Amino acid sequence: MQKVSALLLGNTNRLSLSDQKRALLTALSIMTWVVMTLYYIITNLIVRNNPFLLPYFIFLGIMVVSFWLNRSGFHSVAKTILLLSGNMLIFTYTSVKPIIPGPFQYYIANCIISLAVFGWEERGKAFFFVGLSFFLLLLARYGSISLLPSVHLSPEYTMETFFKNLLVVCGFSVLVVYFLVSVNTSTENSLRKQEIETQKKNNELIKINGELDRFIYSTSHDLRAPLSSILGLINLADLTTDPNDLKQYHSMMRERIGKLDEVLKEILDYSKNIKSEITIQGANIHSLLEQAIKDIQYSTGADRIKIDLDVPTNIEINTDIMRLCIILNNLVSNAIKYSDHTKTISMVRIVVTQIGGNVVISIEDNGEGIDPIHHEKIFTMFYRASTKSSGSGLGLYLVKEAVEKLSGTIHVASEKDKGSTFTVTIPSKYSPTPQAV
Ligand code: ADP
Repeated sequence: MQKVSALLLGNTNRLSLSDQKRALLTALSIMTWVVMTLYYIITNLIVRNNPFLLPYFIFLGIMVVSFWLNRSGFHSVAKTILLLSGNMLIFTYTSVKPIIPGPFQYYIANCIISLAVFGWEERGKAFFFVGLSFFLLLLARYGSISLLPSVHLSPEYTMETFFKNLLVVCGFSVLVVYFLVSVNTSTENSLRKQEIETQKKNNELIKINGELDRFIYSTSHDLRAPLSSILGLINLADLTTDPNDLKQYHSMMRERIGKLDEVLKEILDYSKNIKSEITIQGANIHSLLEQAIKDIQYSTGADRIKIDLDVPTNIEINTDIMRLCIILNNLVSNAIKYSDHTKTISMVRIVVTQIGGNVVISIEDNGEGIDPIHHEKIFTMFYRASTKSSGSGLGLYLVKEAVEKLSGTIHVASEKDKGSTFTVTIPSKYSPTPQAV
């Protein structure tokens, strides 16, 4: 269909699908008329029973012009010329007295072409040409105008042409209806696609709206809490001149400011994950993890944790690195944050393997662990699984959202007081659909 369209219409990129189909229908109607006219010219030349071939030749010339106009983008002019000259040609042969019934059937073809090529938007023009066909049909049948001198045909020949004309008109009508049904189906399909897209966007908006409500409530609380305690500490500092007390208040303020900074960083990550498009870049997973560890090495308690990095240095990954960093930084910092101070040795073990087209990152710790009742919920927004948590409860939500954007999966295995293992699987070459493991 595309090839036929390119051949008959040239470049149709700027046309809508239905306009393109209508222009194609105009071109095919012109071609059918041309083939039929040539057929009549040849048979009449062979049988030599029609001395009036000039109208056919004039019509052929007009059809060539009309075809060229249609191909050059003047679709409306081409349609108008096609229907005017088609009706006039039929009238020329139907006006002959005594009447030859065969050509009358072409008025039906003209009516169908009028409705099909103009469509609903230009129905005024379509009905004008339908009216013209009816008028010419009645004029030819009952009027006294005769554009050609009389010819006398044998009843067998008259019957034969009647049948041939019937065949052509029927075939042509089927072609036109087929095209209309096909335009209708394509339009319906594209409407259905749009509906699914809109529904998807709607669901996303409902989700984002709900999240935004909770987001405003929780973040404003998380931002106010450290601010209020800093304000309290400043008031306390105003009341003392003891350098030791002042030192302690400053250290407490620094800790609250750190907390504030953490919340703001998570808000920024949230916004980056929602807003930015996927940007694919190549990176070395070992280097990314080294950087993530470097970033948290001065956080509270990090110095007493043994970090074991079991990651081959040659694993390259092609994905959205900004999102991958959100995943790694949050998981590594949680493994440190939720370490168990009562244990003699606190450790974090990071293992990366390549399985098929996927990279599997496992971050294991022997920290405080998570009770199984929380496993499902820890990935939801603002969910904190332990009373010890000083975080905002956004980290794992961000991790899950980012993993999904990278077409990956995340899994948690954890036991209270024993430790946790978070396993992230993502395609080593980003693809919008998940890779089989
Ligand atoms: P936050 O750390 O800000 O509270 P997260 O979304 O990162 O929020 O984590 C949600 C909860 O999951 C935390 O409150 C914590 O109870 C639990 N959690 C996350 N990672 C670990 C881990 N490695 N070990 C133990 N508990 C964890």
